[in-house]
Amino acid sequence: MLLGETMDKLLEKVQYLKGVGPQRSRLLAKLGIHSPFDLLWYFPRTYIDRSSFQTASQLIPGEQAGIMGTILAVRSSRTRRGMTVLAAVVETQDGPVQAVWFNQPFLADIIKTGRRVWLSGKVKSILPPEIHVSEYELMEEEDWAPGIVPVYSTTEGLSQRVWRSLLSQVLEKYLPDYPEILDHNQRQRFALCSIQEALANIHFPADRSAYKQARQRLAFEELMLFLLRLQELSQEDSRPGLIHREKTDLVQKVKDRLPYQLTPAQQKVVQEIFADMESPRMMNRLLQGDVGAGKTVVAALAMAKAVASGYQAALMAPTEILAGQHGQALYEVLGESGIRLALLTGSITAAQRGEILYYTRQGEIDVLIGTHALIQDDVRFANLGLVVIDEQHRFGVRQRAALAAKGDNPDVLVMTATPIPRTLALTAYGNLEMSVIDQLPPGRKPVKTKYLPYKQRAKAYDFARQQITAGRQVYVVCPLVEESEKQDIQAAVDLYEELRTSIFRDYEVGLLHGRLRQADKEQVMQRFKKGELKLLVSTTVVEVGVDVANATVMIIEHAERFGLSQLHQLRGRVGRSALQSYCILLAEPHTDESRQRLRAMEASNDGFFLAQQDLLIRGPGDFWGVRQHGLDQLKIANLAKDLDLAEKARQCSREIDAASWYEYIHARFPVIEGTAMN
Ligand code: ADP
Ligand code: MG
Repeated sequence: MLLGETMDKLLEKVQYLKGVGPQRSRLLAKLGIHSPFDLLWYFPRTYIDRSSFQTASQLIPGEQAGIMGTILAVRSSRTRRGMTVLAAVVETQDGPVQAVWFNQPFLADIIKTGRRVWLSGKVKSILPPEIHVSEYELMEEEDWAPGIVPVYSTTEGLSQRVWRSLLSQVLEKYLPDYPEILDHNQRQRFALCSIQEALANIHFPADRSAYKQARQRLAFEELMLFLLRLQELSQEDSRPGLIHREKTDLVQKVKDRLPYQLTPAQQKVVQEIFADMESPRMMNRLLQGDVGAGKTVVAALAMAKAVASGYQAALMAPTEILAGQHGQALYEVLGESGIRLALLTGSITAAQRGEILYYTRQGEIDVLIGTHALIQDDVRFANLGLVVIDEQHRFGVRQRAALAAKGDNPDVLVMTATPIPRTLALTAYGNLEMSVIDQLPPGRKPVKTKYLPYKQRAKAYDFARQQITAGRQVYVVCPLVEESEKQDIQAAVDLYEELRTSIFRDYEVGLLHGRLRQADKEQVMQRFKKGELKLLVSTTVVEVGVDVANATVMIIEHAERFGLSQLHQLRGRVGRSALQSYCILLAEPHTDESRQRLRAMEASNDGFFLAQQDLLIRGPGDFWGVRQHGLDQLKIANLAKDLDLAEKARQCSREIDAASWYEYIHARFPVIEGTAMN
């Protein structure tokens, strides 16, 4: 059968299945299921093993257990707090067990005296035996058999029995024709079972190892289809770009003026970027480098090249502080060579803004630096040839696209300090090329990091004062209060008042937070940079990019409230010169997770290692804002754990002729939100 016909059949309406009328098909549609194909890819939430169960005398307090027996009595009640409690006495082979369900009032109609039940849950006590139920099954004679059975996430009106009978029907009827995208050789090389076996065993696993095999194949299948779909998108996407051909010696001039030598790692990525810019294909490159690796100067050289080739360049940064700092750094690197720069943020005057927009449109500004303000409609360029986006995880796909749309397929360079495993980047971005600065400028010493409990807080500030006495400067970052920016700021203000009136009363102390007026922020940053302020109390606005080489101490209050990547970013504000720097994490960790994070920070200065730890501790859901990249469409693959599998799927996807599997790939991933870079 041709793939098209097979897929037509797999994608016919669920309504054609036995036992599915308009009513049930509506319920299925609510869960996103419209076809037998969708049903096959609707995997069980969990499984219950009915072949293993205990009796009353075998229960162990605190452990999970399964029992089987007849319901002797049922009683429902309500606690004072309004919780409903349903308690049933279940007779097992050697005595009764009390089974308790909370807050499921509708169960009173189902859990009835005389019925046989299988249930599992946590053993609360053994004298008398009591279980708090998490899964249960009434043992209806017709279909009840021991063995591993699936449990599906469901909605009212679709019982587990209905699910199981639907799935057995679909497996029987559609599985024989289900398309197999891997040939025998590929299955062998990647140690995978057939797709038929996989689908059969994910729904009704014969045993644990059959389930594992099934999961492995389906996760692989899913990742590979996802990658093939991305490849297709990126082909739609890979437009001809412009060619940067230098007409002046501007790049050399800029290089000659640098106060230091580029590291070999910087030279390598500059070459990669230049090659892309010279090619007629549009550049779409991710520049990754740990905090302090020196990404800015690389961006500056790329911008110099664009300007030397007769184009304009734009750099977008996520905060005003950072945009301002880039403005200054780029001015130092580029300004003296005659490149004309301007800074566009949300807080300049209307007159200044009008002027900048005018000159940008005329092509008389070569490099425009700014925040989101750059993507407003009335910002137009004469000839935009290069777009650079700093700390790119702070921006959405659309914002990047909006900036690139201001030119005629300009080259795009995005920069991030968040080290992302290559496979994850490729999976998330498909056609993105990657350059990595894998080396810090010479002479940098790893930041010494220490976690201190709050009772030793005074020690931290004493140390900070010693460093100030020795001529250094100090950052203090305030606790993050998730709920409101206002509270963050209040915390910063309080801490600022506390510190400047006590231990640091003899020193100039500054305060920085998001609600200050831009002019004030700039003034504070300037004074800190010049060394007039010795200590800077700040909210997390200093998290990204801020660069003051003489600052050697970073104290983070309530470090337990920060994520690992954020802690690493914050720590990256120090250790930016040959001076020994220190990071003190004041914390009151209450969970294992936060203890793990603090330990990881003490143990390592390596952003790549920490990002992987973070991925393992938190899971990929929030990682790097991946949600917007369509990765949440993955049903079974888990990128935190399946990186190796993803890498194999990527290799294998190159051997597949996507065009001839078009219908299959699209059945699984009809649309992918926001994956394309442009
Ligand atoms: P990041 O990669 O975190 O954005 P920056 O670009 O801000 O890092 O660079 C960090 C600091 O290192 C800056 O002060 C910069 O001037 C300096 N720097 C960059 N490259 C070199 C180099 N090759 N040698 C010495 N210092 C460098
Ligand atoms: Mg930076």
